[in-house]
Amino acid sequence: MNTLPKHMIAMALDHAGAPLKCVERAVRLPKRGHILIRVAACGVCRTDLHVVDGDLKHPKHHIIPGHEIIGRVVAAGPGVKGFKIGERVGVPWMGATCGECPYCRDGRENLCDRPGFTGYTIDGGYAQYATADEDYAFPIPDEYTDAEAAPLMCAGLIGYRAWKLVREARHLGIYGFGAAAHIVAQLAAFHEQKVYAFTRTGDKPAQKLARDLGAVWVGPSEEQPPTPLDGAIIFAPVGPLVPLALKAIAKGGTLVLGGIHMSNIPEMPYDLLWGERVIRSVANLTRQDAIEFLEIAPRIPIQPKVTKFDLKDANDALDRLRAGKLTGAAVLIPPA
Ligand SMILES: [Zn+2]
Ligand SMILES: [Zn+2]
Repeated sequence: MNTLPKHMIAMALDHAGAPLKCVERAVRLPKRGHILIRVAACGVCRTDLHVVDGDLKHPKHHIIPGHEIIGRVVAAGPGVKGFKIGERVGVPWMGATCGECPYCRDGRENLCDRPGFTGYTIDGGYAQYATADEDYAFPIPDEYTDAEAAPLMCAGLIGYRAWKLVREARHLGIYGFGAAAHIVAQLAAFHEQKVYAFTRTGDKPAQKLARDLGAVWVGPSEEQPPTPLDGAIIFAPVGPLVPLALKAIAKGGTLVLGGIHMSNIPEMPYDLLWGERVIRSVANLTRQDAIEFLEIAPRIPIQPKVTKFDLKDANDALDRLRAGKLTGAAVLIPPA
């Protein structure tokens, strides 16, 4: 504990719409119930783009983004019981809940009225160190390297929560084949679902990845699949995909919207929804989702495809994600 540096490097938000700034921040000892983590890897998620671009309002002032944190515990605050110094942990988007609101009390803490979100209202993992509430940190299976484990913490967890709602679909559509989709495709293939991957027109690398992961059909989002879908998940933040996906879904099918932000959904004829089709969103995650998914992932085994960037190149990683020029998941590696 006495070898901790006084300062660390982090990439922080100056103001919405501007590139992140490389800053020096104090390394503070963790408060009661919290752990201090030396960050080994932090995934780059589309939600980080929504924070940086200002789609998500009122972030913590000068927030350090990043909610797919993998690292080792270097200090524990008073009362910490679950983790030892040196243990490897992962920290997801859900960073705190109130434990008292009606949602928390009936097991739906993902909908908490007074939540804390890592990398949005709580400083995140685009840094050399991060602190987390020990109740919202999870042991990471040994099968994964730090960089591979990072995208499991959001692309994996949110993907898993979205997938649970369509796990019975024999023919499953996935719109937007990025980090979350490439993990869900592996979950679906393992459960013998047939995956139909919809990508941007001409996105050859994403189409190749989808085929490599077992998708039975790959095509542009405007196209109709050869078979009506029993369910679909939209991960792209693009509202006009909603009527397109409904058109591809059979009667009684479910359409899950997996993103935290989406452009407006255009007006559409009721016929697209008629026939007991269901549209629903997925919000955040519960700790139970994390426990389940981190147990299942190495058994499949889910293998994330990652592209590493130095922490100081976070803006480059975000730009590439914004431009659709990333295949799989981007992961930031802080300096040693
Ligand atoms: Zn609550
Ligand atoms: Zn995320």
